[in-house]
Amino acid sequence: MEYGLAIAKLNRDDYNTLQETQNTCLRKIYGTKTNHSMAIIHHLANLEFMVDRVTTLQAKFIFRSYHMPDDALFPTLLPHVRQTKGFHSWTSVIRKNKIWQSLDTTTQLDHTTVTKSDLKTAIKQHLKSTHIQRCQRKNSWITNHQQQPCPNCHQTTRLSKQHLLSCHRVYTFLSISKNISDPISFISNRLPKTPPTSHQKRVYWKIIWPKLSYILHQLHRTYRPDYYTIPSPPKNQFGHLLPQWIEPPLVPHAPPFNLNL
Ligand SMILES: [Zn+2]
Repeated sequence: MEYGLAIAKLNRDDYNTLQETQNTCLRKIYGTKTNHSMAIIHHLANLEFMVDRVTTLQAKFIFRSYHMPDDALFPTLLPHVRQTKGFHSWTSVIRKNKIWQSLDTTTQLDHTTVTKSDLKTAIKQHLKSTHIQRCQRKNSWITNHQQQPCPNCHQTTRLSKQHLLSCHRVYTFLSISKNISDPISFISNRLPKTPPTSHQKRVYWKIIWPKLSYILHQLHRTYRPDYYTIPSPPKNQFGHLLPQWIEPPLVPHAPPFNLNL
């Protein structure tokens, strides 16, 4: 399938089908609900969205196509492939690949001089920017809202992101400097992909993640009270899975055999 993705030209429906399948698998693995952010879940699983996976595989395939021996199958077919026109053509694959294009526009290099390291940097940059865009889109649910009573402070106000942050005293609760415009993205964009090895970082995440999970719940509850019919669970019930992932609880050792018996 990975090889197929590198050479296939997919339309929007194909991407949606592949992405929905991947989302369903991730939700089953993580036991999450449908309204949870898929950007965060993909980040935790260290997995790309399907559209990014295809872009990455195609960029790698384009790179390989410039470094194959002349008598390999693809270079032999290339003169015929280049004559194909339209949506499925090879030139269209190259022209529309965002990773390959970013290499082209930033370095102005001849395609054959692009190194593996250039490609690796471009892939990393592309994945980082698409991840940030998705997180920003997800957080846009608390912007541009009409004036209405805030269920938390009961003032009639616009339920803007800024109001929710100050109403729930998010900066103080998360101990974040007010110079940072979006404290929630500031933390969630730094989520580790592997359990941190530094003691200091392990302690930081074990403290901050339950707090962030709690505050996200409170913000969502304030913004969408219609989603909730029962009171919130106690504060200490939030965000216990990430600390367990960072530092799994010790499995008690079996008592040693008593050889004197
Ligand atoms: Zn309020």
